[in-house]
Amino acid sequence: MDRIHDTVIIGAGAAGLTAGLYACRANMDTLLLEKFVPGGQAALTAFVENYPGFHEGVSGYDLMDSMRKQALKFGLEIQTTEVKFISRHEDLFCIGTSACELNTRTIIVCTGVRPRKLNVPGEKELFGRGISTCATCDGSFYRDMEVGVIGGGDSAIEEGLYLTRFASKVHIIHRRDKFRALAPFVEKARQEPKVEFHMDTIVTSINGGDGVESLTLRNVKTEKESTLPVAGVFLYIGLLPNTGMFEGLLDLNEQGFIRVDDILQTSVPGIFAAGDVRDTPLRQIVTAAADGAVCAYSAGKFLDKIEK
Ligand code: NAP
Repeated sequence: MDRIHDTVIIGAGAAGLTAGLYACRANMDTLLLEKFVPGGQAALTAFVENYPGFHEGVSGYDLMDSMRKQALKFGLEIQTTEVKFISRHEDLFCIGTSACELNTRTIIVCTGVRPRKLNVPGEKELFGRGISTCATCDGSFYRDMEVGVIGGGDSAIEEGLYLTRFASKVHIIHRRDKFRALAPFVEKARQEPKVEFHMDTIVTSINGGDGVESLTLRNVKTEKESTLPVAGVFLYIGLLPNTGMFEGLLDLNEQGFIRVDDILQTSVPGIFAAGDVRDTPLRQIVTAAADGAVCAYSAGKFLDKIEK
């Protein structure tokens, strides 16, 4: 008979790797599927200051690499493949991937989020040629140059601060007069002489030829238009859930995040969801990791119940 997994985890960010660690340590037959490389959005974060246990902070990449190695140490099997469909046959789920079809008794969805785009003229043409959503990956290209960072959340402020290591000036452009980001992050940015804030300001186009040359800005209060010369622009305007493949299968909220109950079970018994992809008031690495642990535990309890 074909192998039947106790659980298949989809996505190898903080939630997926922690679910893998806990499921393997609970002796569950566990497989983790990842489309790209393990680490998720957290691995693209330059510096993490609020993950407990690292009093001097840690790079997002190092933290996630360590989570991966810890899970592998306890026997987690990771396959690089894309999930194409999920179907249900009596007590089993069938997962179709780009490589094969798998059978499993439970699924833990940890597919995370992706960066939102701005949808302004020039964005499509210049994406990857001066427009980025990853300061850690692309920041060093802008040594001694001026860059723009768009957004007013934790990511915009944190990554904007990171960019001051390279850029001569970091322009943080936010559409309101108040930041969504946590106050300590904003305060730190206010103290940084290389950071300049453009409040109540939206970007109406990104301009350039071979690369980004400037941004057209509009102040939403005064309606005044201006041109800001920058060599690069980093978009941190929020996150969209990777839940397209679950539409019609799982109950999603209005923004497309997966609804779960208090044991992180979705609307389908046996499918659990952890981390940024679920409907939650707080999206942090620590909450994603905690979710992963809860999901592995809940999946284990679910297996106990169906075995009885
Ligand atoms: P976010 O908190 O959703 O913030 C997105 C920002 O972009 C908001 O300021 C929003 O403006 C602005 N925005 C949205 N759409 C826009 C548009 N079309 N044009 C211009 N501006 C737009 O996203 P995030 O900063 O990526 O953070 C996502 C989650 O990760 C949050 O829960 C955050 O706390 C967490 N996070 C935590 C840490 C950490 O603790 N170390 C670091 C990074 C992220 P408005 O404010 O006007 O809506």
